[in-house]
Amino acid sequence: MARIHNLGFPRIGAQRELKFAQEKHWKGALSHGELQALGAELRQQNWRRQSALDLVPVGDFAFYDQVLDASFLLGNVPARARAGEGEPLDAYFRVARGRAAGDTDGGVAAGEMTKWFDTNYHYIVPELSVETSFRLDASRLLAQLAEARKTGVAAKPVIIGPVTYLWLGKAKDGSDRLSLLPKLLPVYRELLATLAREGVDWVQIDEPALVTELSPVWQQAYKTAYEALKGAGSKLLLATYFGRLGENLELATSLPVDGIHLDAVSARGEVHALLSSLPEGRVLSLGVVSGRNIWKADLGKALDYLEPIAQQLGDRLWLAPSCSHLHVPVDLANEQKLDPELRSWLAFAQQKLEELQVLGKALNQCRAAVQEALNHNAAAIHSRRTSARVNNPRVQAAVQGLSSELGQRKSRYQARAAVQAKAFKLPQFPTTTIGSFPQTPEIRRARSEYRAGKLEEAQYELQMRAEIERAVREQEKLGLDVLVHGEAERNDMVEYFGEQLQGYAFSELGWVQSYGSRCVKPPILFGDISRPSPMTVGWTRYAQSLTQRPMKGMLTGPVTILNWSFVRDDQPRSASCYQLALAIREEVQDLEKAGVRVIQIDEAALREGLPLRRAEWQEYLKWAVDSFRIAANGVADETQIHTHMCYSEFNDIIESIAAMDADVITIETSRSDMELLDAFDRFEYPNEIGPGVYDIHSPNVPTEQQIVELMTKAAKKVPPQRLWVNPDCGLKTRNWDEVLPALQNMVSAAKRLRAQLA
Ligand code: GLN
Ligand code: ZN
Repeated sequence: MARIHNLGFPRIGAQRELKFAQEKHWKGALSHGELQALGAELRQQNWRRQSALDLVPVGDFAFYDQVLDASFLLGNVPARARAGEGEPLDAYFRVARGRAAGDTDGGVAAGEMTKWFDTNYHYIVPELSVETSFRLDASRLLAQLAEARKTGVAAKPVIIGPVTYLWLGKAKDGSDRLSLLPKLLPVYRELLATLAREGVDWVQIDEPALVTELSPVWQQAYKTAYEALKGAGSKLLLATYFGRLGENLELATSLPVDGIHLDAVSARGEVHALLSSLPEGRVLSLGVVSGRNIWKADLGKALDYLEPIAQQLGDRLWLAPSCSHLHVPVDLANEQKLDPELRSWLAFAQQKLEELQVLGKALNQCRAAVQEALNHNAAAIHSRRTSARVNNPRVQAAVQGLSSELGQRKSRYQARAAVQAKAFKLPQFPTTTIGSFPQTPEIRRARSEYRAGKLEEAQYELQMRAEIERAVREQEKLGLDVLVHGEAERNDMVEYFGEQLQGYAFSELGWVQSYGSRCVKPPILFGDISRPSPMTVGWTRYAQSLTQRPMKGMLTGPVTILNWSFVRDDQPRSASCYQLALAIREEVQDLEKAGVRVIQIDEAALREGLPLRRAEWQEYLKWAVDSFRIAANGVADETQIHTHMCYSEFNDIIESIAAMDADVITIETSRSDMELLDAFDRFEYPNEIGPGVYDIHSPNVPTEQQIVELMTKAAKKVPPQRLWVNPDCGLKTRNWDEVLPALQNMVSAAKRLRAQLA
């Protein structure tokens, strides 16, 4: 009998209850007790949703982040957060969010946050140093175990494995993280013994680091760690996900654990290799339903390959989602507005559990036992495959016919730069901003009333035009050189385009946790992408009509639109990206025709699409850069193409950034003190560049002097003729009161730099 289990369930709640409770608590409007009660209620709900499974995860709930929970479980709490009295949750949130400086103390710095593997979830990085010590505090996990049992589910505690825990951490003192392993393992042994004493049969121990490229010392650490945990307590299911094991496959099967979970969606090709090297008696858990997308699984196809495996393994075969459901929305049942056809293709966390149960029943009894469900599924898969809304032959032919010439500017940068210099007559150190201006409450209200049908189109149009005019006048007053229209009409830089492209759909409640209380609702890219009509030309043309200065047309690039969406699983990501590129290319050309001479195409998410394995980076960068070039480069030499990226870790991909061949790139650098430009010691970025000089994440207003100093630093790395002066990113989250003085200082700093140079 195959067993069905889950690796983790979304904790935010179907209506984002956790988010609202967290935020209320942080504002002081919800007590510890009330927050705890809400947490308990969410866990109950989740367990009830999963109660038909053979094993249900416990410990996947967290009030902020599961890695931070692991740090508390292991007693690795930064000293600065420990100090002080109060509820344990206070210390927890102190690490998660920091605390502003008060009258009596200097505040507490928040823990560093970074991306969880290749997802858009962010975790709190464990802080490590030679001094780090560990001490088990299993109170929270044990309490949740008791709760789960009261609910009547078969509980399976979930913990992060010791090697992945260290792998996720950062040694601030530069020490070797692995040197902590001998101190860490006894705590894990104690934990496993404790759980065994509580009668826990199986523990899921997550080791996703096994899907990354590991050096020999990290591989050895796996052997050491699991040798040490052997026989310590409950049985171990070693869970890997997000990719294939590759060269770590034999390492994984050699570890003395009781079972292994493989992501059989992204590592489908490894199922048989794993099966044949799996030692006698081990459990094989196959993640056959994707925990990363929102599509129904093809159950018939899954059964075709699972049936012989079930024959062979019997009750040693377990079925699960590929990874925790943390990365998908909770329940499709809450979506009322999706059209029925599209809806019939989708599965959120709740529906994915149901798919697993159908698979389990088909394997344990026979397909006939779930015939109706299988028929439904097959009909949905067929309708999606053949739908005219998914398949657009014109778009497919256009992608087939792509040639690299499409991505080629007519002339090289030097020649273009000369033509553009003549046309624009910009001063040295030209000043500009990244696109958005403050999104005031009035702007937000107008947008949401318009959406709700409470504000008429003509009224809305007038109000947005007034906002554009305000932004233009302010920029002229400030004396900025290249202007923007301010993006008042945009709620989100991806959603705005998705809503106007064919092939995109939007859920109402398809929220996914990004970090802490922050959730995102990725649009759903479901079909071949086309652009029925221009998306930005009207606003931009109006903005340009208000001023003699060059106005930037503002677009989001194909790679960013792709990386921030739920994407198709029926074609490679690259194919969808090329389609997006062609749609954006049409927009670029329409802007050019409308007389817009500077066009910025933001690629804020290009870097985060990098695959987990470096060996796969080049392939990704090739199609990502190609897509950008196709979108951007179909313009005349006179048209200046800008791109923007909100990060500065470029060292390892600088060649690809250069290959995009944008005339100007603006990037985030102010907080890192121009550190990014170190990449240029090795590689000279050939085109123009605007390293950010105004940290828009902070309410601080940079002084003229600070900006001059930053730019002087930059001028040591990049010839001053090729430098621009601009903020780190868009200004939409700031107030006009902060933005105006900051930009004033930026403009006067540019003037001083020009004078110094002259
Ligand atoms: N043009 C966008 C803005 O200014 C860019 C945002 C981003 O890079 N995240 O808001
Ligand atoms: Zn940015």
